[in-house]
Amino acid sequence: MKIGVLALQGAFAEHQQMLHRLGVESVQIRNLADWNEALSDAQQPIVGLIIPGGESTAMMRIMKDELLWQPLQDAIAKGLPVFGTCAGLILLDHTHLNTMNIDARRNAYGRQLGSFRVESDVKGIGSVPMTFIRAPYIEEIGENVDVLAQVDGHIVAARQGNQLVTAFHPELDEDTHIHQYFLSLCTQAKAV
Ligand code: GLN
Repeated sequence: MKIGVLALQGAFAEHQQMLHRLGVESVQIRNLADWNEALSDAQQPIVGLIIPGGESTAMMRIMKDELLWQPLQDAIAKGLPVFGTCAGLILLDHTHLNTMNIDARRNAYGRQLGSFRVESDVKGIGSVPMTFIRAPYIEEIGENVDVLAQVDGHIVAARQGNQLVTAFHPELDEDTHIHQYFLSLCTQAKAV
């Protein structure tokens, strides 16, 4: 199984390390040529995409400059599994790629609580470490969105079909459960 990792900016290397630990290949997506090659690779096309944390405005700008915006939007809308962490969550919301029925609130925890770590439950997984770095949370959800985790009454993980988002950074912790959950979505999607 091979996963594409959007590698324009932010914490993409950490996701690749996590995938490597799980025995899964990954490929960096930096431009349209990488994307087309990753999808059409005769030997092993990608079966999912990770949009990492970083700075959502910068990432959006580069995606548009590299002509990746529309192709990614189309592929996700057609059902390609995607996992967005932090800035990646923001990029999938209504005001960005608009593939997921969510509204994200950027830098939702303010300056005082720029970064923090908790252990909390994720639906279907159990308790996992959650590292938040100038994180968003999900302010509103629409149809077909399943809330997977809440911290202090705010939604910090959700799923809609093949789209998974976390406001925190599982790639920065040792725990592999969230990535395994995403990989199981990719395996299921591949099978249909
Ligand atoms: N604060 C960043 C943004 O708004 C997200 C932070 C992160 O991805 N760790 O884009």
